[in-house]
This record gives sequence, C-alpha cells and structure tokens, in this order.
Amino acid sequence: MNRTRTRFAPSPTGYMHIGNLRTALFEYLIAKHDNGDFLLRIEDTDQAREVEGATDIIYDTLKSVGMNWDEGPDIGGDFGPYIQSERLPMYRGYADQLIELGKAHYCFCTEETLEQQRQEQGDSFVFKDPCKDLSKEEIQAKLDANTPYVIRQTIDHVGKQEYDDQVYGHIEVDGDLLDEQILIKSDGFPTYNFANVIDDHQMEISHVVRGNEYLSSTPKYNLLYDAYGWQRPTYVHVPPVMKDEHHKLSKRNGDASFQDLVAKGYLPEAIINYIALLGWSPDNDQEIFSLQELVKAFDVHRISKRPAIFDIDKLTWMNSEYIKAMDFDKFYERAESYIREVITKDYDLKKIAALVKSRIEIFPDIEKQIDFFEAVPEYDTAMYCHKKMKTNEENSLEVLKEVLPLLEAQEDYSNDALYAMLS
Ligand code: GLU
Repeated sequence: MNRTRTRFAPSPTGYMHIGNLRTALFEYLIAKHDNGDFLLRIEDTDQAREVEGATDIIYDTLKSVGMNWDEGPDIGGDFGPYIQSERLPMYRGYADQLIELGKAHYCFCTEETLEQQRQEQGDSFVFKDPCKDLSKEEIQAKLDANTPYVIRQTIDHVGKQEYDDQVYGHIEVDGDLLDEQILIKSDGFPTYNFANVIDDHQMEISHVVRGNEYLSSTPKYNLLYDAYGWQRPTYVHVPPVMKDEHHKLSKRNGDASFQDLVAKGYLPEAIINYIALLGWSPDNDQEIFSLQELVKAFDVHRISKRPAIFDIDKLTWMNSEYIKAMDFDKFYERAESYIREVITKDYDLKKIAALVKSRIEIFPDIEKQIDFFEAVPEYDTAMYCHKKMKTNEENSLEVLKEVLPLLEAQEDYSNDALYAMLS
C-alpha cells in the first residue's frame, strides 16, 4: 500500500474561502487518520490572479487552526519546490515528452478560429483542432517564424472514460465530450489542468481531495496519468459548501471568509469543528470535536455527496460551547479588549469576564452584557436606610456582605431565580 499523502493546493487569491478551508481540513484528516503526510502546494500559475500577501493568509489560517503541514514552500521537503511558478522548466519537459508520445500537440490557432467553431457548434462546443493535422515540417516552420502557440492535450475521441470516486462512486464520461485542453499556455506557464497531474504524481500524492467541480475534468487527467504510465491517485471529490439550496458560499458574493468570521468573534477551533461537519458526519451523534478527535474519527466513506449548507446559527451555538469550555485565562486574553471598549470605570475586569463567560455566544456579545455597568449612576447610601424597616447603613452593609457571595455564585439572574435565592 502507498503511504497516504494528501495536499492542499490553494491558489493565492487573498482570502480563505470556507469551502477551501473545509477541503484542506478533509485533506489533513485523511492524511493524519492514516499517519500520513499533509502537504501544502501553492498553485500560482495564473499570474493575473495573484494577490500580494495571499500566501501569508494561507499560512496564518492553517497555523491558527493547528493544521500543520509536513512539507511546503516555507519548510521544504523531498519533493519541492512547492510553489508551481518555481517548477516551470519541469512542466515544459513533461509536455515535450507528451508530444513525443502523441498525446499532446502544438496549436497555433487564433482566438478567431476558436470563436468561429464556437458559433458553429453552439452549446455543445468541443474544439476540433485543425493543428492536429499539421505535418512535422509545417509545425517547425511556424515555430521558426515565432508564431505564438499553446500545447494542447491530444485526445482520441473514442469510447467512455471511467473511474471510481470515493464519494461519488463510478463516474463515466463519453470520450467525445472531452475537450483537448490547453496544457502549456502561450506565456509558457502550465495550466492548472496540466500542473496538477504532474505535481500530484511527482509529490507522490495518494489521495487527491478537491471540489466536485473537478469531477468531469478528471477523465482528462486520467488520460495524462495513463499516457505517462503513472498510477492514478485515489479520488475524493467533495460536495460544495452552500449559502442556501441554490447558491454556493462565496466571498465574491459577500459571504464571510475564515478571516471575516474570526474578526466577528468566532474561535478558530469552533470554526474548524463546525466545518468538519459540513458534508461529513461521524457514526454517532457527537458534535463537539477537537482536531485530534476529528483525526481519530474521520472516515472518508462518511463524506456525503449532498451539498452542505452553511448555517451561521449552528456555528454560533458551537462557538458558545467552546467559550464555556475555555480555560479562563485564555478566555480573558481574548475578552479583555472587548471589555475595555465598554468599561472606563475602575472595576475588576477579570470579575466582569467571569460573569459574561457563560452568557455570550461570540465575543462581540460582551458589550451588550456589560454596558449597564457604565450606566449605573453614583448612588447615595441613604437608599439603604429605612426607618420603618429598621435598616440603616450598618445593618444593611452586613446583609449586603452576606448576599454578595450568593450573587457571585448565581448563574441565573432572572427575577424569579433571584427572588427564590434571596428569600
Ligand atoms: N488550485 C486549485 C483550486 O484552488 C486546486 C484544486 C485541487 O485541489 O486540485 O481550486
């Protein structure tokens, strides 16, 4: 059996989608459940989409949730470099080899040629590349004349392409529907469609875990593995994380990213716990899991193919459970700045923190729990003196001293509960 090795292969786009983080988590859990390796690979071949500082966001996110990688751009490993833009000559070598094997070809077509076919074929457009018929001499002449070109995969459009996915089962795609995708772009960069195959093989990835949008491209990747005589990996395609039944959760549409949720007062541990349950469930009804517990319990066969709907209320509930269970000092560290936002008077802030710990769901809730402290007016001790009830400053103080520990220990501050406790 191959060693279990998975990789998280984000493109550096500037934030961590919840869907992406969930994929990373499943990759991590699959590897660690088998005592295998979890790799980080940065897929930056689409230079136009690159965003400054984006890789730091990826590092910081994974670190903040404890998903440590065994190999990656910053720590190296035996299969580096782990940034695709640093692997360019290697892709070109493999593309040349594929041309030799008759499984790839130069294409000199212009955008107009493609557009013309698109118009003629309509919706079922599959590019029929006239460049496949060029002779060796014609190709050489065009190369000598510096004609711009791409390298495309050559596909014999016959029969069905099949494979088994761990989540979606047996997948069959009609060979006629597979387009001869670009492998090397005119700028010399590989496309994702090419680089992912080369890298996954080179890095000895055993389980390719990714979004289900790649289900239908995978037969083309399989043809590449077959052409080189490489073993195909095990595929685990995961369902999308949805905002509702019809819309994918997406940062572009204003949905929260991981960073947004943390900024809103959610704990990274709670977020990870919650997203593990988006599309996966254990074989019992346990809901609260530490990362270590997830590693133990995770089973690929319990990933569902049904799209998972992101439910912020459920996450909020889960966050409150984490806050309740949190070590007090750790809680205070996070809560202090929220308390200081509200309290300007000379109060014991730790006491206030202890009061709110079990009463909030997310940290920003602290404000509405404690703003009354500031609103309490200066009062006159004369309010404790009542002739008829024979209370004066002295005996009232005695009573208040007795009551204070009871109030401090009291969880339920509703009127009825306080009355019952004091009477
Ligand atoms: N860079 C690709 C993405 O972000 C990775 C897909 C994969 O895991 O193969 O969608």
